[in-house]
Amino acid sequence: MSADILIVPEFGQDASSPVVCELITLARRLAQSAHGRVGVLVLGAAAPEPDAWAGSGVDCIYFARSSGLPLPEMLVAAATEAARRAASAIVLLPHTTAGAELAPRLAFRLDGAVASGCVDVSVEADSVRCTRPCYGGLAREVDEFALAPVVATVRAGIFERAPAHAGRRPELIDLGSFEATRARRIDRRTEAAAGARLEDAAVIVAGGRGLGGAEGFDLLAKLARELGGAVGASRVPCDLGWCPHSWQIGLTGKTVTPELYVAVGISGAGHHMAGCGNAKTIVAINSDPEAAIFQDARFGVVGDYREVVPALIAQLRSLNDASSRKS
Ligand SMILES: Cc1cc2nc3c(=O)[nH]c(=O)nc-3n(C[C@H](O)[C@H](O)[C@H](O)COP(=O)(O)OP(=O)(O)OC[C@H]3O[C@@H](n4cnc5c(N)ncnc54)[C@H](O)[C@@H]3O)c2cc1C
Repeated sequence: MSADILIVPEFGQDASSPVVCELITLARRLAQSAHGRVGVLVLGAAAPEPDAWAGSGVDCIYFARSSGLPLPEMLVAAATEAARRAASAIVLLPHTTAGAELAPRLAFRLDGAVASGCVDVSVEADSVRCTRPCYGGLAREVDEFALAPVVATVRAGIFERAPAHAGRRPELIDLGSFEATRARRIDRRTEAAAGARLEDAAVIVAGGRGLGGAEGFDLLAKLARELGGAVGASRVPCDLGWCPHSWQIGLTGKTVTPELYVAVGISGAGHHMAGCGNAKTIVAINSDPEAAIFQDARFGVVGDYREVVPALIAQLRSLNDASSRKS
């Protein structure tokens, strides 16, 4: 059996994006089992320089020309064409809002299957197996598909970055031009970027309902700054409008795997832990000693965050000041 693997990154992601590197690791493993090649779809106004992808582990770049910022309609059309040209058996996308939107549309166009939020994908004899969390992250299900095109969105932080494949320069395949015909962009608002993307951050300070209001996030932003991290949230503060929805971590939010996850005023519901349970070290600050989060946390502080967090910031500030005086 020979089958190709196609990676469809988000617009603007390239060979240096951590999430793309992780997808390449998985794709290379699948390509080895399926005796196929690894391709990547790149959309843009100008053709990418294959040297920029040399050594990344990608065998070919499918380039789709588009003049403006891509709309889902253009992405679906370009990804469908790339998957057909590659005779791809498996299409991998990051499990992000855009990936989760694109995947089912793409599977429908390809007459294939879709599995979202995967933590593993493997090729077995004549089938593809996708493993993903279910029941709020309490269990895992394994779905087996006949080897038709299978479109899978893959959670971040599961696979190591692909090691460099020295000297391998990918082939560039021009798919032609893709413009939107049925949709028109009438407005675009970009959220101000505040530090690292949650999916890529090594340190995350996340707040929950226990913060009591939007101002609690100002305090968490200060703590995150001292730790060199990003700010995230449970679903409740996002729904209450205390912070942007893009900060939501959990089953219906982002999946993160930082080195350090500081959960402040978060109870530790399964729906939340499904998105952060793989963090290397979890620190919980919660006023309720019985809160479920303490079962997942390596370190815990029982107390009101309004007292604990400012004390923590003061300690970190003096440590940071001392180390910058030394250097
Ligand atoms: C289908 C579905 C999908 C979901 N998806 C998600 C998801 O993706 N992400 C997500 O987060 N949730 C999700 N939820 C919601 C989830 O089940 C929980 O309701 C939510 O995670 C609880 O948020 P919380 O921990 O912030 O709030 P709570 O459960 O209300 O916990 C607040 C915590 O703050 C503590 N606290 C209160 N005051 C203070 C203080 N002053 N100092 C310190 N601690 C304090 C309390 O002791 C408590 O433990 C989903 C639910 C459903 C049904």
